[in-house]
Amino acid sequence: MVKSGDILIAHSTDTGTRHNATSGGVGSAIIYYLFNTQRIKSTISFKYQPENLEYAPYIINDINDYNVSGSIYHEISLVKFIKENISKIEPPFACFALPCQVTPILNLLEKANIKAYVFELTCSSQQSIEATQYLVKRAGISPNEILNIKYRGGGWPGGIRITTKDKKEIFYHNNNSLWTKIFHSHLFIQPRCFFCGTDKGTNSDIQLADPWGIDSLNSQTDGRSMCYIKSGRIAAILTEMHNKGLISYEKSDKQNFIRSQAGTLIRKNYNLKHKRFTKFIKAIIQHPLYKKVVLSSNILFAAHCCLYKGMYRILHKISSF
Ligand code: SF4
Repeated sequence: MVKSGDILIAHSTDTGTRHNATSGGVGSAIIYYLFNTQRIKSTISFKYQPENLEYAPYIINDINDYNVSGSIYHEISLVKFIKENISKIEPPFACFALPCQVTPILNLLEKANIKAYVFELTCSSQQSIEATQYLVKRAGISPNEILNIKYRGGGWPGGIRITTKDKKEIFYHNNNSLWTKIFHSHLFIQPRCFFCGTDKGTNSDIQLADPWGIDSLNSQTDGRSMCYIKSGRIAAILTEMHNKGLISYEKSDKQNFIRSQAGTLIRKNYNLKHKRFTKFIKAIIQHPLYKKVVLSSNILFAAHCCLYKGMYRILHKISSF
């Protein structure tokens, strides 16, 4: 039996959902189950738009229209989208949200008297679309040639998969690849992410995370989701789903959940504790001139990544986080 406060390592037993999702597919499995048991009548799905390399959200009222897109690593103004499309939402509703989006979304929905489940996606930072554009440029592909980009899925930890119109696939792994270097360069992250708190204490129903450092990248390639169960109603739903064989789980603990996000937590804690320094670093690395120079050559980009990573390693060693 699942209880509120539990930490689980879980996965969907539907191989398609699991394979297409970011990690174990638990979030998508819950969406399917909530729809199929008539507990929700609408959710948000995302569609890739080749013309601008971006995903766009849309409200769906039929589970057959749901697309398991996996995590999307470019900024989407979800709060604005919900505000502008609130009349299309048929309650009850469910959606995924980043920690900084959970409270504004819940407030909007509450004001509109819409009962909702919100699934929180653990987040290290969110990129601007520039990150993807830079990757595409480095891959030597013209944006016009691209049919689809998928940031996660295809097993765990997966990676970014670019499919061209002539069906060529270019893949960058989610571990130690050009894409992860771009991701961790922080040249493209949203300004707010430099000062993001590590515990937003949101009222989401469940928090989902990758089991980094818990599951082996070599042997646990089907994917599992770390789940922090935050509400009694989602605990009851997961218990039901487990009894019906829709998910499989083992219990874990808070230490493991924290361990899986250790790198991000350390950096975020450091940034918050040393706000003036963080402001200084942000001003430098996100200055248009700095970015222009660093992105003008592969060697300069590699040097930036190396120095930035090295700086945090040294700070980690010499300061008390
Ligand atoms: S790092 Fe924090 S501020 Fe940035 S997108 Fe994630 S939750 Fe929001």
